[in-house]
Amino acid sequence: MNTATLRADWLLASARAGSIEPGVEVRYDASGVRAIERDVQGGGAMLLMPPLANAHDHGRGIRSLAYGALDAPVEAWVPATYTLPPVDPYLVAAAAFCRMARSGIGHVVHCHLSRDPRTLVREAEAVCRAARDVGIRLAFVVPMRDRHRLGYGPDESILQWLDASDADAIRTRWLRPIASVEEQMAVVEEIAEAYESPRFQVQYGPVGAEWCSDPLLERIATASAASGRRVHTHLLESRYQRAWADRTYPQGIVRHLDQIGLLSPRLTVAHGTWLHPDECELLASRGVLVSINTSSNLRLRSGIAPLRHIREAGLKFAVGLDALALDDDDDLLREMRLLRLLHAGTGFDAGVPSDAVLEAACCHGAAAAGIDGAGDIAIGGPADLLLLDLKREVADLCEPLSDVATLFHARATAANVRTLVVAGQTVVQDGAVLGVDEAAVVSELHEQLRAHSGAMAQFLPLLRRYQEALARFYERRAD
Ligand SMILES: [Zn+2]
Repeated sequence: MNTATLRADWLLASARAGSIEPGVEVRYDASGVRAIERDVQGGGAMLLMPPLANAHDHGRGIRSLAYGALDAPVEAWVPATYTLPPVDPYLVAAAAFCRMARSGIGHVVHCHLSRDPRTLVREAEAVCRAARDVGIRLAFVVPMRDRHRLGYGPDESILQWLDASDADAIRTRWLRPIASVEEQMAVVEEIAEAYESPRFQVQYGPVGAEWCSDPLLERIATASAASGRRVHTHLLESRYQRAWADRTYPQGIVRHLDQIGLLSPRLTVAHGTWLHPDECELLASRGVLVSINTSSNLRLRSGIAPLRHIREAGLKFAVGLDALALDDDDDLLREMRLLRLLHAGTGFDAGVPSDAVLEAACCHGAAAAGIDGAGDIAIGGPADLLLLDLKREVADLCEPLSDVATLFHARATAANVRTLVVAGQTVVQDGAVLGVDEAAVVSELHEQLRAHSGAMAQFLPLLRRYQEALARFYERRAD
């Protein structure tokens, strides 16, 4: 087995502890870290740390702005994403995974969004191949839903806000038949049987209570308890979802999900923007994990997650990009900074400490992807390594750097990522992805997209009218 070496000026050996040691050389192979030599003389500004984990994403290789899905309230934004034409799912996934890898992300929870449930297995194969070619670890979340295809309520209650011909056009375009609970469970098994591996885990993905009947959620809860397979779902992302949940489950949506049996240490909930303190406590008591998706919540006008309540309740949180990073670049290092500063408090308040954000981004995010115990660089542990070059970040410092962690939290971005190693395999070297020709993937993707630009432009007026109808529907229905 070939042994490789990485040298660094500083080592962040545990994302749980956050402390940094000087000069290190790490030897590793595919089976794991073989040796760590300390007190190695450096001279540069290289920081070695565990890779980051993106706890909630949708693998949007074509970013939504590219095809006219402009930032908007999530209720209006989601249908705009349906206008993405049928392009090669391998290219879409590969482009997204390349960007993430260049941002230092080694583990991803990919909530797949399928245009057509009938093609789900084929798309899973393409996503699996893309993850393997790029070299990251992936949790593939199989989308499951069996009601409310257009929003939070029966389809016709939304269509009635459109004129008859627009309603017909939406029906024809988007109202596909709903697969039965058993058919959907069988698809999860089929994908798992065909593609699951230590690098590709399959999870149940009830999209959210708004779109899932109780029998579907109950079936998933029972199957997850029996098999140990993780579950990933959206929860209380927007204020319209909060209003819908309060109307639909007067006893409380989180309590309802608990009664169904869905709350367990195997569950990750995404967003949680509108969680109440007692709901955070219930989730924490069941060992649930919440993925905080800060940029996405800002861009889609969902709000700011109640991180103080989440932390006070002892609810573990992870960091998710939701394919909507602040600068549309999948930069999870910047996302960590945004999250920390947004929740740092004012004046002399003590807000979320940077160490907690680091643990969330490395350890809890990996747990959401089904990888327990990630976030350490240790002999015998997996060879998952991220090397950052902080040379240009230290250039203006007058004094010798005494606190690398502060500098990392203040300045590190994807631009500093030099090398990413996952399971001993070099995924990124000198800031470039090795396993895939990223430029070729992106250019082919753009070409495929451009071929549909005429049809997309034609559909845009109907989409805008539909979005206006949704605004009327939700504004009238919001509590
Ligand atoms: Zn999402």
